[in-house]
Amino acid sequence: SILSRLLGVRDDDSKFEGGKIQMTSEEAEVVKKEIRVGVEGLIGNTPLMKIKSLSDATGCEILAKVEMMNPGGSAKDRIALAIVERAEAEGHLRPNSGDVVYEGTSGSTGISLAMICRAKGYRAHICLPDDTSTEKVDLLEKLGAEVEKVPPASIVDKRQYVNRARSRAMERNNDESIEGRGLFADQFENEANWKAHYDHTGPEIYRQTGGHVDVVVAGAGTGGTISGVSRYLKRRLPDMKVVLADPPGSGLYNKVKYGVMFDIMEREGTRRRHQVDTLVEGIGINRITRNFDVGRPLVDDAIRVTDEESLAMAKFLVEHDGLFVGSSTAVNCVAAAKFALKIGPGHTIVTIICDSGTRHLSKFWKAVGPISGELAASSLEDILDLSST
Ligand code: PMP
Repeated sequence: SILSRLLGVRDDDSKFEGGKIQMTSEEAEVVKKEIRVGVEGLIGNTPLMKIKSLSDATGCEILAKVEMMNPGGSAKDRIALAIVERAEAEGHLRPNSGDVVYEGTSGSTGISLAMICRAKGYRAHICLPDDTSTEKVDLLEKLGAEVEKVPPASIVDKRQYVNRARSRAMERNNDESIEGRGLFADQFENEANWKAHYDHTGPEIYRQTGGHVDVVVAGAGTGGTISGVSRYLKRRLPDMKVVLADPPGSGLYNKVKYGVMFDIMEREGTRRRHQVDTLVEGIGINRITRNFDVGRPLVDDAIRVTDEESLAMAKFLVEHDGLFVGSSTAVNCVAAAKFALKIGPGHTIVTIICDSGTRHLSKFWKAVGPISGELAASSLEDILDLSST
């Protein structure tokens, strides 16, 4: 490669000509293409990392797509860019003309949208529940987004944050006297979401593993990541299995296992909605979104992960690997390790490092408790409840 030739030149003083490394104009063109243009240019092509502790303990190769290395700190950069670019292509957004992107999100999507809107000449208006962790609200404000806090409410309530964002966009579009149009980003239903993972995250994993993937393990918030990645990889690798990692209170586990979203209360013969009562942020839902149900069944199995397990896993990854992750990543890693122990050694399992622990300091990491000064204190069996999957 050009790089190794240049490094070779550096190593060998005799090849210096006039004190300069000589590069042909073709080589200069290729090297220049490596310059990323703007923050958009930093999105995607994230590394795939082998998690050594989990791989050693299970005998499987446990690989993780390091999505926290996107410039906005999560996989949501990919979908925020895709949603904005699609709206631009369809003529719904024009840069620097007062257009505003609206979204209802308690998670990383708002941060990614705020970043991309700044870079592309739009304003961002983010509606979120008023109990959202303070570090996320601070970050949104520092990125210049307009933040609207609403009381937590059910999805059928028009004051709920997603519904509020949708109606704010409509209000703007219905008022001709206001400059600039409104776009409701709609990450749950907007199919630019799963398609971004189908077009990029999936192919990147395929390339980075040389096409060797036995299992993908991921949680679902909108469902975009698990659906897009799986749909792409299953086309290439029809025998590959997809496993959903599900936190407490999510209805998806029952949907995958038994075909129903609800808890079946056998004695009373009634159905009730799951109570969302978890420290985990960003994954777990009680309705089927268009981004989860992308027209064909993709998820083969599901694993339930308790908060105790994900808190212990977060601590385990710091203690063994120096890896500081957020709550949904901890859920993914518990499910990946459990599934590895279930299917036995020798398999390649890919999961997702969604974001860093820095986004979760005030809530999830507060509950993790002290990190042991002892090196590699606990074993995997110590932290997983292997009686429940
Ligand atoms: N982890 C975190 C921290 C998230 O915010 C989200 C999205 N809400 C996910 C994982 C899940 O990703 P997806 O929406 O693609 O299912």
